[in-house]
Amino acid sequence: MEGTNVAVNRLDGLGIREWVRGPARVVGDEVILDERRAEPYLLDNPEENEHMAFSLAALPFTSQRPTPAEVENFVQQHGLLWHGRESQGTDECRESLQDWAVAIMQLSFAGVLYKKLTDSKENQTITELQGFLRKYDQYFPNSGGSQEEYRLHATALLRSLMNSGLWGNNSTNGMKTIWSLVMEESGGLQLGYFAPDLLTTAYASFAHLMTNKYRFKTCPGCGALFRPIGRSDKKWCKKGCGSTTRGRKSKAQAKS
Ligand SMILES: [Zn+2]
Repeated sequence: MEGTNVAVNRLDGLGIREWVRGPARVVGDEVILDERRAEPYLLDNPEENEHMAFSLAALPFTSQRPTPAEVENFVQQHGLLWHGRESQGTDECRESLQDWAVAIMQLSFAGVLYKKLTDSKENQTITELQGFLRKYDQYFPNSGGSQEEYRLHATALLRSLMNSGLWGNNSTNGMKTIWSLVMEESGGLQLGYFAPDLLTTAYASFAHLMTNKYRFKTCPGCGALFRPIGRSDKKWCKKGCGSTTRGRKSKAQAKS
């Protein structure tokens, strides 16, 4: 990843943040990780964490809760949101889908808000940004009709949402994200962080992209939030997504 480098989940003295992932199943309102078959891995790869953050924000919902099969798939690839290596073997590796729903909605709201803000600056209109925020009962009457002022209010909201996400909450056993300096092998100093869990790592990944001013997009095929890598005019989140939508469209056209 280009831009300012940050040491991800890796601090001198603390080591590297370990997490666990593996088979999981949804039972009732809970997702339960199979602790005996779960495998440890390191959460220090910026690309993998970015992929995890976008996958989490894009997890689909079925009747107001995250789709069980998709949650199981996510846990297989990345693990639970709040229970990692430290919880393995405690029989506590289970999380409520209700908590997942809230976490996903907050993360994706922050991501979409960032996208609408950057779009709004580029298009020099706040209409769409305003429409989006009004749906969530966010009004900024103090901006007095000024687009510039309105955007500042929206940015302040984004900052608060991101900061509470970065900070973490009670489910992290009182542990917060720690930011510190890391010494590189070359002797240089680098800013780094150590996050308490997977969700705070997702926020840190988004924060890194936002401060480096990367563009976020929403895929017209599946609605997922994504970051176009390589060509910035990329329209679809992944190859298959565009072709299936185009395939469906051409089939529909052929029928009519
Ligand atoms: Zn897509």
